[in-house]
Amino acid sequence: MGEDLRFDGRVAVVTGGGRGLGRSYATLLAAHGAKVVVNDPGGSLDGAGVDDSAAHQVVREIAEAGGHAVASTESVATPEGGRAVIDTALGHFGGIDILVHNAGIVRRAPLSEMTYDDFEAVLDVHLRGAFHVVRPAFPLMCEAGYGRIVLTSSIGGLYGNDEVANYAAAKAGVVGLSNVAAREGAAHNVTSNVIVPAAVTRMAEGIDTSAYPPMGPELVAPVVGYLAHESCSVTGEMFIALAGRVAMAAVTESPGVYRPSWSMAEVGDELDEIRDRTHPVTFPVVPDGHGDHIRYSFAMARQAGQVHA
Ligand code: NAD
Repeated sequence: MGEDLRFDGRVAVVTGGGRGLGRSYATLLAAHGAKVVVNDPGGSLDGAGVDDSAAHQVVREIAEAGGHAVASTESVATPEGGRAVIDTALGHFGGIDILVHNAGIVRRAPLSEMTYDDFEAVLDVHLRGAFHVVRPAFPLMCEAGYGRIVLTSSIGGLYGNDEVANYAAAKAGVVGLSNVAAREGAAHNVTSNVIVPAAVTRMAEGIDTSAYPPMGPELVAPVVGYLAHESCSVTGEMFIALAGRVAMAAVTESPGVYRPSWSMAEVGDELDEIRDRTHPVTFPVVPDGHGDHIRYSFAMARQAGQVHA
C-alpha cells in the first residue's frame, strides 16, 4: 500500500468536528497535512448547552500527533456564527480550501406532535447551518479558483424515517444546496458533494447496535477525505458510507409515458408504465442535469410530432 493522499498546504473547516464523524474527519485531514478548523460548540444531542472542551480536545489530539488545528466554538446555527467559523480559517490559516459541514443535532417526535421549535432548531443546524458556512466560503473558493465542499445528508434525508420530519426535511434540503454549489462552482474548480454517512456515534443512542457489523466513523472518514482532495473532480454527487460499504446514490427517473393530453383516469391507466424503471434514466447534476431533464421530456414530445423545435 502506497502513501495515502496528502493535504499539505490546504486549509479545512469541519463543522461539528468535536465528536463522532466530524472528529474522525478532522483528525484524518490533519494527519495527512491539512490545517484544520475544528468547529464545535459542544452541546448535547438535542443542541442544548455548550461545552468548549469537545473542539479543544480534538485540537489537542491533532497537535499532539504533530498536526495543525485551531478550535472554533461558534454555532453554525446563525449567520454570524457561520461567518465566524469561516473567519477563523482566514484569520489563523489565511484561506479556506475545504469545507465539511457535518454539524448536527437530533430532536425526535412523531409528525403529529412535532413542535415548531424542534422543527426550526434542527433546520437551523443542518440546513441553514450549511448555508451559513457555504455562503461566506463559496465566493472565496470561486475567487481562488479552488474549493472542495462536502455537505452531510442522511439515510433519513433520502428515504425518510419515523419521528424525524425536521431532520429528514433538513437532510433532503442539503442535497439541493450542494447541487447548486456544484453547478455554480464548476467553472471555478469548486466541487460540492454530499456524504450520506452512518456510524455508531452518540446519535445511535437508544438503538441496539450489538448485532451491527463494525461501523465506526473511521469507515466513513476516508470517503469524505477523498471528496475533499484535489484529485477528486467528481461533483454534484451523493456518496454512501455505511459499515464499510461505499456507494453512490442518485435520483433516477423512469423514462415515462408521453401523451399529447391526459385525463386523470389515463394517468391511472398508464401507471405501471409511468412507474416502470426497468431502464432508469439519470441526469448528472453537472454539467446540466436540470437542462437534460427538460430536454429529455421535450424530446419525447417532439418525437411524437407535437412540438415544433
Ligand atoms: P455527533 O452528535 O457525535 O456529532 C455531531 C457534532 O455536531 C457534535 O459534536 C455537536 O456538538 C456538533 N454540533 C451540534 N450543533 C452544532 C452547531 N450549531 N454548530 C456546530 N456544531 C454543532 O453525531 P455524528 O453521528 O457524528 O453526526 C455527524 C453528522 O452526520 C450529522 O450531520 C448527522 O446528522 C450525520 N449523520 C450521522 C449518521 C450516523 O449514523 N451517525 C447517519 C446519518 C447522518
